[in-house]
Amino acid sequence: MRYSQMLLPTTKETPSEADVVSHQLLVRGGFIRKLTSGMYTFLPLGFLALQKVIGIVREEMNRAGAQEILMPMVQPGDLWQESGRWKKYGPELLRFRDRHDRDYCLGPTHEEVVTDIARRELQSYRQLPINHYQIQTKYRDEIRPRFGLMRVREFVMKDAYSFDVDDAGASNSYEIMRQAYYRIFERCGLEFRAVEADSGAIGGSFSHEFMVLAETGEDTLVICDACSYAANVEKAAIPPMGPPATTVALADMVKVATPGLKQVDKVAAFLQVQPADLVKTMIYLADGEPVAALVRGDREVQSVKLKNLLAADDIEPLNEEQVWQQTRLPVGYLGPLGLDIKVVADQEVMHMVNAVAGANEKGFHCTGVNPGRDFQPDVVGDLRQIAVDDRCPACGGSLRLKEGIEVGHIFKLGTNYSEAMGATFQDSDGQEKPFIMGCYGIGVSRVVAAAIEQNHDAKGIIFPVPLAPFQVIILNLGPKDDSFCQVAERLYKALRDRGLDVLFDDRDERPGSKFNDADLLGIPFRMTVGKTFEKEGKVELRFRRTGETLTLGPDEAIDRLVDLVRQTPA
Ligand code: ATP
Ligand code: MG
Repeated sequence: MRYSQMLLPTTKETPSEADVVSHQLLVRGGFIRKLTSGMYTFLPLGFLALQKVIGIVREEMNRAGAQEILMPMVQPGDLWQESGRWKKYGPELLRFRDRHDRDYCLGPTHEEVVTDIARRELQSYRQLPINHYQIQTKYRDEIRPRFGLMRVREFVMKDAYSFDVDDAGASNSYEIMRQAYYRIFERCGLEFRAVEADSGAIGGSFSHEFMVLAETGEDTLVICDACSYAANVEKAAIPPMGPPATTVALADMVKVATPGLKQVDKVAAFLQVQPADLVKTMIYLADGEPVAALVRGDREVQSVKLKNLLAADDIEPLNEEQVWQQTRLPVGYLGPLGLDIKVVADQEVMHMVNAVAGANEKGFHCTGVNPGRDFQPDVVGDLRQIAVDDRCPACGGSLRLKEGIEVGHIFKLGTNYSEAMGATFQDSDGQEKPFIMGCYGIGVSRVVAAAIEQNHDAKGIIFPVPLAPFQVIILNLGPKDDSFCQVAERLYKALRDRGLDVLFDDRDERPGSKFNDADLLGIPFRMTVGKTFEKEGKVELRFRRTGETLTLGPDEAIDRLVDLVRQTPA
């Protein structure tokens, strides 16, 4: 492509809302433009980058035996009523009515539609296993779209769905997808981890997330230094502690004045105890009902664990005002004593002795609080978030926390959808059985952003070769000089003839701005017809990532570049 003919509006301006580097660089590089909150147009360069991801995903899905289909983006509400998700999904599902007053939604995912296809088209075990996928626009009415392409309302997803006759088959289908995902993200040239994950609203019993490691990731992963254990902190389980065995004498409970002391640290310092001696009480709304969640003062409540312990569909933390409205309890002085709402305690809380807890009265705490004697939670379980000083749940090794961007998610769904929607097949024994399903997503457009979060420097993007919209940019620094133009045109043609994706900067611009744009766009190789050409008839081949520069004759440069591009993993 000739730069002079391409819509490639690079700019020095960064939108004020662009907090993360991929958002800044995608806008500055003219890859995307915002239409409205959480919706972006892919300009030509952005679309080329997206197509690179799509190409890899499609090849690997096909290689894994999945068959591509394309389902409608608009879905009838009836199907969602059947699966039970019309009620469950919440406000991320954009619902509307057509002219006949029928309910519809924009597809945030396609389990319902694909299950409907299966129940109509697949009758016999002989047709199984089967895996269908599509690459398509999804819509989720995210409450806070942010970070450019990372969390948008409209985005491109690859979603695949497998159907099997039994559990062993479903495990096999899952394993095939897990391996395909490894290949996909390896081929993308990304540093990633597959981690054990929570199954979330989609349900099911088993799932892994594929996380691109980057500081700006919204997810936190816990990784073991000693073994292969890696999990999302939402999921990372704390091993059961067993029943408490107290040897210390239980003190009497005493109410003490702690005026104005609302934070754990301040109360602990005032009462000359450790934060770990306090019971921390947080109020959440679980499916509309207030619940109190208890953890040790030095721990954090993990809301996904809370949601799972309560088998709730929706969990919402409450702020001070909401807590007052819902419970008439004063935030800062909350405790488990005498509560008339449901109380869920982390197992560790049950091991606390002579603890400090809020008195549920403004300005007061209690000392000598003992679980079992002074309060009895309704539910006890693993409620707290794992921390770096915990031991690996798998091997006891030491742990590290890392930020990650979720680019893919695979689930074993079991029969959740097939049973709810009556999707059955006839097995070899003549019995009607529900399909055992799996579903497998990749945030294709998020992959583009994640690649940039992981690969950039102060000057701009550094695309991994497989994802680069162009593999090479040719800079003609003498656009008014015939000999420069001749060789630059020759390079452009030769490289394209050899199958490379080439951007030819033929613009009549200053060298400085051509160099800056080339760096900003992140194209992995740059070929410059400039000073060395004038002096010795040679061109410069420069590597964006390392800055290494080779000075070569034009033909030699072409051969070298073709080799370099072919060397990258295919
Ligand atoms: P998240 O926790 O980030 O909201 P999710 O668990 O809701 O993701 P899935 O339902 O598993 O996501 O969707 C499959 C993939 O689609 C995710 O792994 C992610 O890469 C991508 N994705 C999900 N929501 C968005 C979004 N709002 N914008 C861009 N990509 C998204
Ligand atoms: Mg989500």
